[in-house]
Amino acid sequence: MSNKIESREFQTEIRQLLDIVINSLYTGRDIFLRELISNAADATEKLRYCKLVEDGALDPERPLEINIDTDEEARTLTISDNGIGMTKEELIENLGTIAHSGSKEFIRQLAEVKKDSPKGEADLSLIGQFGVGFYSAFMVAEKVTLYTRSFREGSDSWIWTSDGTGSYTIEPGDDSILSGTKIVLSLKADAADYSKADNIKRIIKQYSSFVPFPVKVNGEKANTVEAIWTKNSSEISEEEYVEFYKYIANAYDEPTYRLHFSSDAPLSIRALLYVPGENLERFGFNRMERGVNLFCKKILIQEKSEAIVPEWMRFVRGIIDSEELPLNISRETLQENALVAKLNRVVTGRFLKFLEQQAKSDSAKYNEFWKKFNRFIKEGAATDFTHKDGLVRLLRFESNLTKEEELISLDDYVARMKEGQQAIYYINGSSREAIESGPYLEVFKDKGIEVLYTYDPVDDYILDNLREYQGKKIVAAEQDTKDLPDIEQPEEQATEEINQDELQELLSWFKTNLGEKVTEVRASKRLVDSPAIILSPYGSHSMQKIMMQMTGEKENIPAGILELNSKHKIIKGINELRKANDPFAKEAAEQVLETAQLAAGLILDQRNMVGRLYNILERAVSQ
Ligand code: ADP
Ligand code: MG
Repeated sequence: MSNKIESREFQTEIRQLLDIVINSLYTGRDIFLRELISNAADATEKLRYCKLVEDGALDPERPLEINIDTDEEARTLTISDNGIGMTKEELIENLGTIAHSGSKEFIRQLAEVKKDSPKGEADLSLIGQFGVGFYSAFMVAEKVTLYTRSFREGSDSWIWTSDGTGSYTIEPGDDSILSGTKIVLSLKADAADYSKADNIKRIIKQYSSFVPFPVKVNGEKANTVEAIWTKNSSEISEEEYVEFYKYIANAYDEPTYRLHFSSDAPLSIRALLYVPGENLERFGFNRMERGVNLFCKKILIQEKSEAIVPEWMRFVRGIIDSEELPLNISRETLQENALVAKLNRVVTGRFLKFLEQQAKSDSAKYNEFWKKFNRFIKEGAATDFTHKDGLVRLLRFESNLTKEEELISLDDYVARMKEGQQAIYYINGSSREAIESGPYLEVFKDKGIEVLYTYDPVDDYILDNLREYQGKKIVAAEQDTKDLPDIEQPEEQATEEINQDELQELLSWFKTNLGEKVTEVRASKRLVDSPAIILSPYGSHSMQKIMMQMTGEKENIPAGILELNSKHKIIKGINELRKANDPFAKEAAEQVLETAQLAAGLILDQRNMVGRLYNILERAVSQ
């Protein structure tokens, strides 16, 4: 038979991964067992599902169980399952190449961390979440031999071997190999402990207690098989809940929130959902896959189902079990199934209500959640029309009336609106400081009116689309709005104002000189300290900025309304220059406009301004 041995190279990324797996020092090698057991359980689950759908009977001789055998003398550990097994093509596809681009990113980051770590340590604990868990076997094995046969009628058996250094071999197996997969690990000398049954039982207790099939060590059952979501929450300990989270999320952190509920009407549902302890997308990992598994009467219908929760809920881990689903439902049509869509709606609504309750009962904890997971809620609020109300209630903002990092909701805002206040106001800026040093806040400060701060353009997008909340208009502070109350000026300053006739002349002189760059020039009632302000005829400036960035337009700023503070020294000075027919008046007027645009964040390219600023400076220093 040896002439039939084929040697093949691993794909580059797998070689890189194996290099890290084999050559790193690591604590926590135990996880390799969890990965191999979870693969065996997946293969068994798939077999059960296929047989169900195809109406095939299960072989009574081959129970759905996972067997682990230890041999201290030979220093080997063997993991066998009676699952779907693999054909030769599947072997090459599954254990030689990487499908997900996310895994490549994971490997790149691993290599980076390892390079920077003084001890050459790499944190492999996330390996299972990136679809490359199998290779963790090489943390403990100097050689891996895998025997497999696909459960499909008439399939041949195959033997796969590798020492993890760049290549693997495949050769035909003989008739003694049954359908399913058996993996033999020849353990490294320093990993001999993994050939001890007690050690293996300990690890199973720790990581694999929720595997839905019996896991036997040398013939003896080592786990308790149960679907904990079908029990009453009073029968489940806090510890069990956390362990179950770690099991299904392939995680090592503690969950932030847990929602376990069952309902009988309008649908029979049992759901156990978790918000993880951390949000990996936040640290630059690729977009997460969805993490809720769909069951029918404890039988897995679809792992990481895209049909059962909306995309913005991809950070949630857990299971949803409904006995109303037909068992042989095709996975391909789940997305279009009306019952599944209904389940999705009910569960999502329930989850949002749960978050709202959590925010009420422990706002400090909710704020922590918000810090880590706000992206998803915002994504939902911007895209998920069905659940918009529930999502919008979860939004949080700082404002001019909160301290830094103190957050309020739209409900909080409305509850403390001033008497007679017409609208909900918001303003965008890169930071608290940037917003507070700009001209837009002046009138609100003066009146003690609250303005929400949005640091994220997505916030503006959401608020802009929302338009109204609890019957109150939502208005950008930069918007041209009639909803603002006038500022009452102190008496003595009012006398210094430019008289009405002259003011009208000044305004039309400004408009004539600025031409198309402004739609209108008028006297402002909202300014205290600043000479001028630019108002948007459309909405918030940040939406305009996004448009400008998208079109690559840097210099042609859309024309806005220029409002002048007729009590300001600069404006009064320009008026005097204008009356004396000094050509410098025009230059100063242009600079007023551009400075106002700069304060609005609308100037993306400052080059044009520089020359004029020098002219103005020259004049100032030579006086
Ligand atoms: P993941 O389990 O996330 O897909 P792994 O690296 O653990 O990633 O496994 C890669 C693939 O190899 C699996 O998706 C599966 O197709 C195949 N595989 C691994 N172990 C088994 C097994 N015991 N039986 C059948 N197929 C397996
Ligand atoms: Mg796996």
